[in-house]
Amino acid sequence: MQILDGKIVSQAVKDDLKQQTLDLKAKAGKTPHLAAILVGTDGASETYVASKIKSCEEIGFKSSLQRFQSDIDESTLVEAIEALNRDADVDGILVQLPLPKHFNEEKIINLIAPEKDVDGFHPISLGKLVQGLPTFISATPYGIMLLLKHYNIDTVGKHAVVIGRSNIVGRPMSILLSQNTNPGNCTVTLCHSKTQNLKDICLQADIIVAALGKVSFLTADMVKENAVVIDVGITRVADSSKKSGFALKGDVDFENVAPKCSYITPVPGGVGLMTIAALLMNTFNACVKK
Ligand code: NAP
Repeated sequence: MQILDGKIVSQAVKDDLKQQTLDLKAKAGKTPHLAAILVGTDGASETYVASKIKSCEEIGFKSSLQRFQSDIDESTLVEAIEALNRDADVDGILVQLPLPKHFNEEKIINLIAPEKDVDGFHPISLGKLVQGLPTFISATPYGIMLLLKHYNIDTVGKHAVVIGRSNIVGRPMSILLSQNTNPGNCTVTLCHSKTQNLKDICLQADIIVAALGKVSFLTADMVKENAVVIDVGITRVADSSKKSGFALKGDVDFENVAPKCSYITPVPGGVGLMTIAALLMNTFNACVKK
C-alpha cells in the first residue's frame, strides 16, 4: 500500500507556481491576486481561508480578505462581489462556503464573474467542464486529478465509483474521471444517498472517491483488494487529546481499509492540501489569461 501524499504533491505544485509567478512578474509585470470573502466566524471556514491566504503569501501571490458579520444583509455581500468583479487588480474571487443560512448560496456564486471564478463553482465553469472545454475546474476534484497524475495512477478503462453527487465535489469528479484524458477514461458510477446496493457497487470498483461527509463510512468489507481509495471527507470530531479540541476525520475507515489498497489518501494530509494547490493554479491561470 502506498500513501498518496498531498503534502508532497501540493508542495511540488506550489514550488512550481512560485517560480512561474516570479517569471510572470519579470516578463509581464503581473502578480496573481486572490480575493477572499468570509462571512461569519465558523471555525472550519476560518481555518480554510487562513490556509489559502498563507499559501498565497508563500508563493508570492497577492491576497486580500474581506470579513463580514454573519448577520449582514444580502445587498452588502452582493456589493462586495460586484466591486471585486470590477477591480482590475483582482484575478480570482473566493467566497468561502458554507454561507450563513439566510443566504442563497447559488445566487451568490452566480454573481462571481466567470473569468474570476477560481473555485470553479459558477454554472458557466461547470457547464464548460461537462463539455470538456477549458475552464476553471472545481478545486477539490482538480486537486485529486493532480494527485492521480503525480503518482501516475493507471485509470484507463478502470471502474471508478464516486460516492456523493454535490456540484462542488462528487459530480465534477465523476465527469473528470469519465473524460477522454489522462488521468481519466474511467467507467464511472456516481452514487448518492438513494443508491441501492452501495456495498456491491464499491466492491466492483478499481478506484473509489468517498465524498459524502460521513466519518469512516467506507469500511474494509466495501473495498476490493488493490483498489485506489481517495478520501475527500473532512469532519471535525471532538478530541480532548488535541490542543484544538478536535481531530479531522475522513469518510474512510483508514486503519482497516488501507491494508487492502494499492494507494490511499490520508486525512489530514491528502485531498485538503491538493484543493488549495488547485485553487492557486486556477488563480495563476486567471491572471495569465487576463
Ligand atoms: P454535500 O454537499 O453534503 O454532499 C454529500 C453527498 O453525499 C450528497 O450527494 C449525498 O447524497 C451523499 N450521501 C450522503 N449520505 C450518503 C450515504 N449514506 N450513501 C451514499 N451517499 C451519501 O457534501 P460535499 O460538499 O460534497 O462534501 C463532502 C465531504 O467532503 C464533506 O466531509 C466535506 O467537508 C468534504 N470536503 C472536503 C474538501 C477538501 O478539500 N478535502 C472540499 C470540499 C468538501 P444526496 O445527494 O442523495 O443527498
